[in-house]
Amino acid sequence: MSSKDCIFCKIIKGEIKTDPIFENENIFAFRDIRPLAPVHILIIPKKHIASMNELGEKDKLVLGDMLFCAGEIAKNLGIAEKGYKLLIRTGLNGGQEVPHIHLHLIGGARLSEGIHPV
Ligand code: 5GP
Ligand code: ZN
Repeated sequence: MSSKDCIFCKIIKGEIKTDPIFENENIFAFRDIRPLAPVHILIIPKKHIASMNELGEKDKLVLGDMLFCAGEIAKNLGIAEKGYKLLIRTGLNGGQEVPHIHLHLIGGARLSEGIHPV
């Protein structure tokens, strides 16, 4: 899929409306439309990167920014102290639906252990 047809690229361009949480030059964060927990945020790079398998050396900083901002967002939303889960699904076996890399920040409730989605 090219970035032209990508749902998350459309979200970044404002062509699809979301509930935005945070934005900087590299990343955009918004609420998941089908939340799996009381807090469910998606943190995405503004650059179209299809999955972990497409990452290049120069994307390391953006990925670091996504992780750092996840921690900051968790603090701002008041879920950091009790804890939360970060998840990047990759490919078919990982259950990735949207081919634009995204970090799930899931929290606000006691989450399951093991390999379950939440
Ligand atoms: P994946 O399964 O690829 O890891 O996660 C994709 C996530 O994107 C899902 O949790 C799904 O609910 C969310 N999602 C898909 N389309 C939209 C949309 O148009 N708006 C928002 N806010 N979330 C979306
Ligand atoms: Zn995209």
